[in-house]
Amino acid sequence: MTKARKAILEALRLSPIPVSAISLVSQLGLAYDQATIYRNLHYLEDQGMAESFILHCSEQGTVRYYSYRNREDGVHHHWFHCERCHRFIDLGSCNYTEQLQQWEKDYGFVITDHTFFLTGICDSCNV
Ligand SMILES: [Zn+2]
Ligand SMILES: [Zn+2]
Repeated sequence: MTKARKAILEALRLSPIPVSAISLVSQLGLAYDQATIYRNLHYLEDQGMAESFILHCSEQGTVRYYSYRNREDGVHHHWFHCERCHRFIDLGSCNYTEQLQQWEKDYGFVITDHTFFLTGICDSCNV
């Protein structure tokens, strides 16, 4: 694994919330150029070490967010995004295995991946 790839993977692993490519560039941009960061994010996602989702937010616009994914056990997290204060809340690691298996059984398809996040109003904003 190249140095850049390691640094990006480590930044994702340590981040408590999903991060955009832009914020990784501002975090690591002194060491690596933007193209390198984008290329490596793509690579890490391809290899199952990162995952991303596209979120439309009134403040940030349409942004792709990346988060760490444990390649050994496939554990990933799901997130809630507040439409008002724009923070992410970690909903913990995915526990949809049963539901996914049920859908596979019901419909006869094979699920290879899923992306799932919630948007709404967080408790601090909902007053
Ligand atoms: Zn909020
Ligand atoms: Zn999941």
